Order: sequence, then structure tokens, then C-alpha cells
Amino acid sequence: MARKDPMAFANEELEALKEKGLYQKLPILEGEQRSRAVINGKRVINLSSNNYLGFNTHPKLKEAAHKAIDDYGVGAGAAREIVGTMDVHVELERKIAEFKHTEAALVFPTGCDANAGVIGTILGEKDVVISDELNHASIIDGIRLTKADREIYPHLDMDGLREILERVNPKGYRNILIVSDGVFSMDGEIAPFDQIADLGGEYGAIVMVDEAHATGVLGDHGRGIASHFGIEGRLDIQMGTLSKAIGAVGGYIACSQKFRELMEHRARPFLFSTSPPPSVMATCIAAINLLASDEGAELIGKLWENTNFFKKGLESWGFDTGNSQTPITPVMVGPGDLAMKFSTRLFEEGVFAMGIAYPTVPRGKARLRTIVIAQHTKEELETALETFERVGKELRII
Ligand code: PMP
Repeated sequence: MARKDPMAFANEELEALKEKGLYQKLPILEGEQRSRAVINGKRVINLSSNNYLGFNTHPKLKEAAHKAIDDYGVGAGAAREIVGTMDVHVELERKIAEFKHTEAALVFPTGCDANAGVIGTILGEKDVVISDELNHASIIDGIRLTKADREIYPHLDMDGLREILERVNPKGYRNILIVSDGVFSMDGEIAPFDQIADLGGEYGAIVMVDEAHATGVLGDHGRGIASHFGIEGRLDIQMGTLSKAIGAVGGYIACSQKFRELMEHRARPFLFSTSPPPSVMATCIAAINLLASDEGAELIGKLWENTNFFKKGLESWGFDTGNSQTPITPVMVGPGDLAMKFSTRLFEEGVFAMGIAYPTVPRGKARLRTIVIAQHTKEELETALETFERVGKELRII
């Protein structure tokens, strides 16, 4: 008898995705990640990168990476606690802490790892976590890896958060952790961390922000959420990535010195992954120097100018851009297959804007996720807007 193929589920699941119009091939970028880029062999206006400030290709960052390869080689060769901590790792952590105005910082191989590592260090079975319902997948996965009790509050709902705090407070938990994206990665909204910090203070909870999309975007020189709200010193844990505005790859936690020391002993992705390459650390040091400089402030100004121009343009054509307050601007479509069709047609017309559907966003809330960057020219943005209008009308989205 022929043996049943134990891997047949893969094809079945792929066919189901195709039937729902949700099957996608990975787009391939040829050459650099810029405002105009060659994607799948076609030169298009790129509205899908997280390269907010153009740091991916900045000459100062490239130079820092080249030099570090010459000085240190291409890999760190061990996990951090074995012999993978080079002076350049320590220097970056010092630099991040200085930039974020915290006592200390710890770097992880990715932002996803940073979330898993920090949440796993805080939460055990005697603890509870309270999480916004639209938090990033890596926060959700980090929580799932712990034995803590879980509570989910409705998106951005401060009364909902307070109700849960009231309910869990008398239960005698060791740690209560409140965690939220600072900027929601699919909607572009800013979480009200001034109020979250107040609630945390009132109920003795640990307050954690994920600043993946706030670093380099919000606050003085892109210092993030605490600076944006004027609440520096009131967020216990500030998680960020080195992969978006910073331009390279990695994650960090900015926090107290004692908590950093505890993560060195407990944070599993820190302990069990090889230390990030020294060239990446040197790139990030150069990136933070650049952010803190006049050029950094100018680039952030340009990013916001472009964002406001593009958002206004979309809204004037009648597109629904949700409640975005940041450069992440969703163009709401609704059905997943229509979002994918919209994305495909835009690409044919020379604009790359990724369609995002369930499970990345809730069912029926499929969208195109657009991000303009500091380097987009007015002409590129005008062309993109005209294309959105034309294709949006053709598909009866507007
Ligand atoms: N948190 C949020 C809110 C994100 O958008 C992302 C990136 N998709 C991450 C964490 C993970 O960061 P990284 O890409 O560095 O793993």
C-alpha cells in the first residue's frame, strides 16, 4: 500500500490560501532598499519599507560596517555569555542607554527576540500580564512562552485597562506587567503612554512599551515614546528594534542596570543565540550618532513632512486611512482578496504597497500598509497618489 505523504498538509493549506485569494509569493528586491527600488524585476515607487530615514543605505553607516568587518571579522563566534561579547557590543549598549536616557540597555539578535527575552524574564507563574488586543505578534508569542496569567484589554481602551487592574490587583500577584506597542505596526496609532504610565504607577504595575516603530520617528531626535509624551523615567521597560529606522537588524531593551543584569542570566534568546555580528553593532552605533545629530533631526522633519503630504493626499481622494497618527498609513480595503488585488494592480502601475490580510490583521480589516520615508521626493509621492486614485476608482475602493 502506498505510504500516505505525511507532509501533504502543506499543499492542502497552500491550496486553501489560494482559494481565499491570500496566497503570496515573496517579493524580491534587487539592489538597495530605497524610495524607488527594483522589486520582482520592475522599478517601482516603494511604499513598504520600514527604512524611515533612509539609514539602510546611508554612507556613514556603510562605512562603519566596512570598518568593523576589517577590525573584527564577520561574525561574533559565540553566544554573548560565552565569548561573543565584543567591546563593540558593550559600546552599542552604552550608546543606546545614553540616547534613551536610561541606566542601561541590552541588545538582542532581533526585536522578536528582545520581546521574548524581556517578557520571559519578567513573567513566571505567580505573575499576570495585561496586553492590548492588537499588540505585535512577537509580544503575544513572548507571553505564550510564559506560565503567567493573561488579560487582554480592548485596543487603546484605558477604562478597559483600569477595570482589569482593579480586578487583578487584589489577587496578590508578584508582578503585574502592562505591555503595549508604542506605535501600532499595522494601524499607525500611538498608544496613550502618559495614561498607561499613570495607571501603572497607581497599581504598582511594570510598564513596558514596544518602540519598534517609535524609535527614530517620535520624540526629540527620535528618542521614542517617553520623549514624545514628556514622561522620561516613567517607563520601566523600553523595547526597540535596530531593524527599522536604525537601518540594520536587532532588538534592544533600555531599562535599569539591575534588570539588565537579570536579563543577562534569564533572557533565553540572549543566552542561546549567537551574538550579533560586530559590523551590525558598529552600524547601529553610527546610526544613533546620526539620529542625535542635526542631520538626524532634519531627516525626521522630512519624514513627517512627507507623511503629512501623503496622508492628506490619500484622504482627499476619499481613502479611509483609519486612525493613523504616524508614518504608518493603512489604506483600509476590507476583504482580504480585494486588498491583494489592489496591491497587484498598483504594482503593475509602478507602485509597491503591500496588501495585509488575516491573520496579520483581523478578518474583514485587510488593507494596504504604506510607509513613506524621508527620501521620497514630492514628485514620487504625487505619482503614487495619482496611481492610488486611478486604481482605487477602477476597483471601486473609492
Ligand atoms: N514589535 C513590533 C511592533 C514590530 O513591528 C516588529 C517588526 N515587525 C517587531 C517587534 C520585531 O522586530 P524585528 O523585526 O527587529 O524582529
